[in-house]
Amino acid sequence: MTEIESTFRTERSFPEAMDRDDPLRHFRNRFHIPKTPMGDETVYFCGNSLGLQPKTALDYVIEEMEDWKKLGVEGHFHARHPWMPYHEFLTGSTAKLVGAKPSEVVVMNSLTVNLNLLMVSFFRPEGKRYKILIEDKAFPSDKYAVESQLKFHGIDPADGLVVVKGKNEDRVITSADILEAMERGGESIAMILIGGVNYFSGYACDMKSIAAAGHKNGCVVGFDLAHATGNLVLQLHDWDVDFAAWCSYKYLNAGPGGIAGVFVHEKHGNSFDLPRFQGWWGHDKASRFRMPDTYIPIPGAEGWQVSNPPILQMAALRASMEIFDEAGMENLRNKSEKLTSYFEFLLNSTVSNSGMRIITPSDPGSRGCQLSLLTGPGGKALHGKLGKQGVICDWREPDVIRCAPVPLYNTFLDVWKMAEILKEPF
Ligand SMILES: *Cc1c(COP(=O)(O)O)cnc(C)c1O
Repeated sequence: MTEIESTFRTERSFPEAMDRDDPLRHFRNRFHIPKTPMGDETVYFCGNSLGLQPKTALDYVIEEMEDWKKLGVEGHFHARHPWMPYHEFLTGSTAKLVGAKPSEVVVMNSLTVNLNLLMVSFFRPEGKRYKILIEDKAFPSDKYAVESQLKFHGIDPADGLVVVKGKNEDRVITSADILEAMERGGESIAMILIGGVNYFSGYACDMKSIAAAGHKNGCVVGFDLAHATGNLVLQLHDWDVDFAAWCSYKYLNAGPGGIAGVFVHEKHGNSFDLPRFQGWWGHDKASRFRMPDTYIPIPGAEGWQVSNPPILQMAALRASMEIFDEAGMENLRNKSEKLTSYFEFLLNSTVSNSGMRIITPSDPGSRGCQLSLLTGPGGKALHGKLGKQGVICDWREPDVIRCAPVPLYNTFLDVWKMAEILKEPF
């Protein structure tokens, strides 16, 4: 038990005091919190699925609609935030958030599209080395994308896809399982694509060690950071990750279908011999509008862009990234560890008799903010009951409830309220 955990208490006064002393407490007021039909604020634990709306997002989107209304095509250069370089307004914050150099990141497309585009460049099967390693219970979209890349190269997924299985009773896949599978696969593995935080279990893998071991084994190492970006402190450049992709509608609060982000390590940024799917937005900016016949890719991550990006989605993302800049990811993570540990403490001390179990690791270093509860039978009814009492969390068939108390807008009282409901028999 850490020092802070030894001070945790179950009485309501404790979370109230924690909220009062929370240096990030005012950030909650920067978001619209959904209401119950009675008009009370919900306890919103689905920030890992769809983050809440920053109050500034609407103004930012309206600004672009108005500039379009007033300026038409001139908005590309004369909007208050000109549309031509609009994605660049997001580069600094994005780089900071994932621990990258600005030239290593760009916002574009959506997540699965980006995974496919990146794999076109980074999955290069050759001779005996032609397999892709992913984790069991990878988000289905990632598995579909990886299978499609194998087929694209004429490889049967039944042969080319290596799926790491978890060994413990809850089948949570650990970094050790991944490293072991990599070793077993030896030089047959061309590429590793792992969720930095597994969407189902909430397990955060040791990305630095996996990248190092993968490289030692001769593999390219990529991460899906859908559940890690905006949740963990990331150091993608220093960890020497080859490539990564994430969506922005979960912890990044950019709204449904928000524009996604990618990371390409600097060491690949000038590898113009890598095959890539091309489009005009990846072409050299200086000559783009001369529309030359010959494609000249922009150095760095921007060279993976294909199309001109959706301004309205980027406007919404800007609103949220400004809040991340202000709060600071390390401060958020600091609060997040306490918030999730307190949630775990309450669950362990109040619901231990209910037959439920937390499958997310207890070590804060091996998880983000999410806790996944294995409910046993009756879980679905419990999820319904929580919903009726204003707690919005996620149900995964057949028996898991996922809850993500996010440090930007969730409170210690939020987790206490949910634990109170779980205390009652169901
Ligand atoms: C949310 C999520 C996706 C969704 O992909 P989209 O292309 O944005 O629809 C894919 N993979 C993982 C791991 C996710 O968590």
